Amino acid sequence: MPSSITSKLDKFRCMKRSVSEINLDPLQRGGILTREARAALVEWGDGYSVCDFCEGMLDRVRNPPVEEFVHEILPQFLDVDEVRITHGAREGMYAAMHSLCDAGDYIVADGNAHYTTVLAAERAGLEISYVENSGEPEYTINPEGYRDAIRDAADQGYRVSLAVLTYPDGNYGNLVDARRVAEICHEEGVPLLLNGAYSIGRMPVSARGLDADIVVGSGHKSMASSGPIGILGAKQEYADIIFRRSKSKKNKEVELLGCTVRGAGLLTMMASFPHVLERVGRWQEEVDKARWFSSQLEELGIEQQGEKPHNHDLMFFKSERLYEISKTARKGRYFLYHELKDRGICGIKPGLTRQFKLSTYLIPREDLERVVSAFQEIIEMGSRVQAE
Ligand SMILES: *Cc1c(COP(=O)(O)O)cnc(C)c1O
Repeated sequence: MPSSITSKLDKFRCMKRSVSEINLDPLQRGGILTREARAALVEWGDGYSVCDFCEGMLDRVRNPPVEEFVHEILPQFLDVDEVRITHGAREGMYAAMHSLCDAGDYIVADGNAHYTTVLAAERAGLEISYVENSGEPEYTINPEGYRDAIRDAADQGYRVSLAVLTYPDGNYGNLVDARRVAEICHEEGVPLLLNGAYSIGRMPVSARGLDADIVVGSGHKSMASSGPIGILGAKQEYADIIFRRSKSKKNKEVELLGCTVRGAGLLTMMASFPHVLERVGRWQEEVDKARWFSSQLEELGIEQQGEKPHNHDLMFFKSERLYEISKTARKGRYFLYHELKDRGICGIKPGLTRQFKLSTYLIPREDLERVVSAFQEIIEMGSRVQAE
């Protein structure tokens, strides 16, 4: 090996991570492992560890109890006919699009859809017709827009083969009336895929209750799992297509390339599941806490965007005040990041001041009080410096 490489490798031998005491990163709040999952991660960390007793189908492995998890527990949890493990929400969306739609078709998606919805569609050769949001300050999606978007594409001669609703979206944390969207899509003869990357594992989601035909979730985002892992559920008529078996390799599901998560990630999801089930039952407490936090920041002049009162822990804030301070701060637009870090708080993207996202999920109220005080101090200090 050339010394130009080997001389750089020492740092790889000890991989450390630095996170502050209080982490507000929406991406990370719901993916923090339980003690049980952390132990499972070590126990099952070797490659292909899940396959010791596999007889050809990952979802039928009985030791560890994958079959029970995938075929009994998860379908009850999501209230849906069939469930499979994927590598993430995006892989679930892609599998559904690739199997249910034909290249050249249109899908309809909400204007707040995640970029992975767009990439999944592009990879499957599909075009997207959007239901636009209402704009500032709430950015809501009107379910009736789905009818217009479906009809517009159909009027132009395109086949609309799927609708996607992001529930909630990853920017504002808005929860659209999914039941109503499903009703409209079904009246127009289009199946609905519910993207629950930020809901499944945090709040109760019943596919049957919402009448969603397909649902996807993200394990590393909302199910206390070490990724990449997700779940994909479908009503039987769609499951038969999405999870169809290979013509030549019987027992292998084509869309999943036979097996998906075949290691520690799956075991962390299973090990965390009792906790996930329990926390979903306490969702209302999280909503109340988010609303309280939002009102505290608003008192400081930091305005929450998106639905109000809010129904989710993911929130988007705007602050002209912090932006003004950043213009003269020594560290410029990085000042907020550093000021928070000095106070043991991380998770707001470095460089952002005027608008940013954060999550209060599973953060104790005392810690959130510290966050509020930190913002108050930072604003007061910045205002003082500017006045001088
Ligand atoms: C994070 C996120 C995704 C992607 O989830 P993966 O499991 O990493 O693929 C998709 N949609 C939304 C709304 C998200 O917030």
